Amino acid sequence: MKEHKRKETVPEPSASIWWIRRDLRLDDNQALDAALRAGGPVIPLFIIDPAIWDSPRAAPRRVDFLMEGLRALDGSLRPLGAQLVLRRGEPAAVLSALMAESGSTRIFAEQDYTPYARRRDAAVAASLPLKLVPGLTVHHPEAVHKADGEPYTVFTPYSRTWKAAGIPEESDLLPAPDRIRQPQDVTGLALLAGPIKSNSLFPAGEAEARRRLAQFVDGPIDSYSGDRNRPDLDGTSGLSPYLRFGMLSPRRAAAAATSAMQSARSEAARRGAETWLNELIWREFFQSILYHFPRVRHESFRESLRDLAWLDNPEDLSAWQQGRTGYPIVDAAMRQLLETGWMHNRTRMLSASFLTKDLLVDWRHGERWFMQHLLDGDTAANNGGWQWVAGTGTDAAPYFRIFNPTTQAKKFDPDGAYIRRWLPELHQVPLQYLYEPWTMPADVQESAGCQIGRDYPAPIVDHSWARDRALDFYKHKAVFRSEKAVESR
Ligand code: FAD
Repeated sequence: MKEHKRKETVPEPSASIWWIRRDLRLDDNQALDAALRAGGPVIPLFIIDPAIWDSPRAAPRRVDFLMEGLRALDGSLRPLGAQLVLRRGEPAAVLSALMAESGSTRIFAEQDYTPYARRRDAAVAASLPLKLVPGLTVHHPEAVHKADGEPYTVFTPYSRTWKAAGIPEESDLLPAPDRIRQPQDVTGLALLAGPIKSNSLFPAGEAEARRRLAQFVDGPIDSYSGDRNRPDLDGTSGLSPYLRFGMLSPRRAAAAATSAMQSARSEAARRGAETWLNELIWREFFQSILYHFPRVRHESFRESLRDLAWLDNPEDLSAWQQGRTGYPIVDAAMRQLLETGWMHNRTRMLSASFLTKDLLVDWRHGERWFMQHLLDGDTAANNGGWQWVAGTGTDAAPYFRIFNPTTQAKKFDPDGAYIRRWLPELHQVPLQYLYEPWTMPADVQESAGCQIGRDYPAPIVDHSWARDRALDFYKHKAVFRSEKAVESR
């Protein structure tokens, strides 16, 4: 009896805050796991941070996707005995108020690598017990480095070391908890009860992410190495918005790729899974670049191409943004972005190449526009993709690689299905003119119901002329810069 009494007096561990940022999931969540292992109750908290929410880079569609994802997370927490606490304000202030109110003594969060996130977390950690936990990537950027400890700036050796550091398997993943004990009296904003726009093409939430992953590894992954280049097919996973917000664990995605490689029934299928794993590694490569070289957020990685005198013609930029350049594959891509908040990787490359090389508009304008519209808009991947195409980044396509929008469209949209899907005004245009509608004779324009200059624009620039101009532009600037660098030594 006496012993029983003594047990009762052992103080219960205080509560921990699970500060959710880009890890909107219960499955394989290392921050949640750390909070649960601390032993006391757990408060799942999401903070609406005005510095992010009210930033000009925030995309209304991405915000809706996030809100829908938070509601889905709340729905998954309730059967476990918890609920999402949503608050608004400057993170350190919100956290310290919640700690005082709930008596919690620890904060666990998944580490994020953007310059803003790192500043924010350093500010919080300066006065509060914040413990950052890995999970945004399979391998932390510090864990994949050259033999001399320096970070990689070229993908292939990076990917080799990444793989050598260990590829997760299903058995390495953390299961979702079956119960979360949360203090009853902690409340938050009731925003999740209000109307939230749901996305019919990309319904937010962990369940949808897992469904997509299962569906992808059950078939499309086998032919991924070829189909991934075809914007007219559903040949990719469509998981980027889910990885962006951690509705899917990157470790689970990598484990699924590994298991698809191991169980592949043909060499082609094995290659498909391996290629997909490589794309997941590209994601981590760009996260690592941003982590080690935060300056890329504002400037070209390559010093020699840092001060290019971009033309930045506002009319060209606007025609590109609205999908009215006169080059159907570029316009289809830009309309897909405007209508859905997503764009195929091949057409991201083509449209980015057109803006930077054909129009000589600074890649930062394109990067911002993508960020303002993409559901998967991610500082590291977007910056990496833009700098890769512009030729200014790490391991970038050389500046003289300039995509030809017509031959690329013929190759990767061979039936014109993608172009017709996003450009209804070209719907009736015969295939032989679809890639260069400006070559349509007047009678064909009439029968197709598409008069060039009225229903669809004439090209705003001639590609072969623009190609030569771009070569000149990059070449001379590059030479000029490297001469300067030599002079200043
Ligand atoms: P899958 O082909 O199924 O690939 C699986 C996952 O791997 C993707 O979901 C993504 O997380 C990752 N991935 C694939 N390709 C890349 C790549 N080249 N770089 C980094 N990660 C990759 N991706 C984003 O997630 N957010 C962005 O803001 C973004 N901006 C881009 C901008 C430009 C100019 C370019 C050229 C590429 C950009 N990408 C971005 C990369 C890529 O286009 C998308 O990740 C991909 O199209 C998403 O479709 P998916 O999920 O079907 O990809």
